Amino acid sequence: MNNHIILSTGLLLMATVVSGAAASADMASIRAEEYASIRRAFCPPPPDQPAQNAAGTPADIYIEPTQIFDNLYFVGDRSTSSWALTTPDGIILLDAGFHGNVEGTIVTGMKKLGLDPATIKYVIVSHGHNDHFGGAKYLQDTFGPKIVLSEADWTHMVTWPQRGNPAPYPTRDVVVHDGDEISLGGTTVRMVVTPGHTPGTLSPIFPVKDGEQTHFVGYWGGDGAGYLPAAEMETYMKSADRFASLDPRIDVELSNHAVADGLLLKLPLLQDRKPGDPHPFVSGNASFREWVGVLKTCAGEFLVQKQAQ
Ligand SMILES: [Zn+2]
Repeated sequence: MNNHIILSTGLLLMATVVSGAAASADMASIRAEEYASIRRAFCPPPPDQPAQNAAGTPADIYIEPTQIFDNLYFVGDRSTSSWALTTPDGIILLDAGFHGNVEGTIVTGMKKLGLDPATIKYVIVSHGHNDHFGGAKYLQDTFGPKIVLSEADWTHMVTWPQRGNPAPYPTRDVVVHDGDEISLGGTTVRMVVTPGHTPGTLSPIFPVKDGEQTHFVGYWGGDGAGYLPAAEMETYMKSADRFASLDPRIDVELSNHAVADGLLLKLPLLQDRKPGDPHPFVSGNASFREWVGVLKTCAGEFLVQKQAQ
C-alpha cells in the first residue's frame, strides 16, 4: 500500500465518520421532533391550546410519492398514508386512503413510481375508518385485489358512523385473525390484531430490503385513542405493550398517518442519503419500542383525564 492510498483511505474514513456523526445528530433531532409530533396529534393538548385533529386535511396535503425501501413505496398524502409493498408476484397495498383521494393520490402516485395498480393483489386495510378503507371499493372494482380486514373490523366498518365524506364499502372478502400470514412472491406479512383504536385494528409486520440488508417494519394500524371510552383506552394500551415486544427483529416504525411516524422529517434525509449513510427510516428495535411507548403514553394521558371526570 503506498502513501497516497493510505492518505486517501484515511480521508475517506474521516469523511465517513463525519458524515455518520452528522447523520446520527440529525436522527436524534428527528426522533425528538417525531415524538413531539405524536404528542401534538394524539396526546391531550396542553390546557392553554386547542385540540388538533390528527387526521385533518391541511390546505396543501400533497406529498411526492416516494420509494422508501427497495420494496416499499409511499403513496399517500398529509391526511392519510398508504404504502405499496412490491413482490415479484404483485403488490400488497397497505391501507386504501380516503374514497376521494384513491385515484388522485394512490393510483396516480403508483403510476408515477412505475408501479402498475393492476398488479395489486392484496389491500390490507388496517381498520374500518373511512380514511383507510375509503378507496377499497374503488380498488376492488377496478383492479380486483383481495381486500383484507380483521373479522371485527369488517363489522365495525359497516356499523361505525362514518365521518366526513362517507365512502362506499368494499364487498366482504378476506377475513384475517391474529397470527395469520399473507404471503405473496416470497414476502410474508404477519397480521397482528391490536384492538383499541377500533375493535379489530390490524398492525402488520413485514420485511423490507435496503440493498443486502433486510429490515422489519412494525406498522401501527390505529393512531389515536382520545375519543375512546376508558375501557377501550386500556385495551389500546395493552395492545401497544404487546406490539412493542412482539418481534425483536422490528427496526422500522411506520403508520398510516404522516404525523405518527416522522415521515416528513425522514424524507429529506432519505433524499440526501449518501452511500454508507444509515437509512433514516431504520431506527432499531429499542427505538421502535420507545415509539410505541409514546403512542401508548398519549392514550394513558387521556385515560387519566377521563378517570378524573
Ligand atoms: Zn382510525
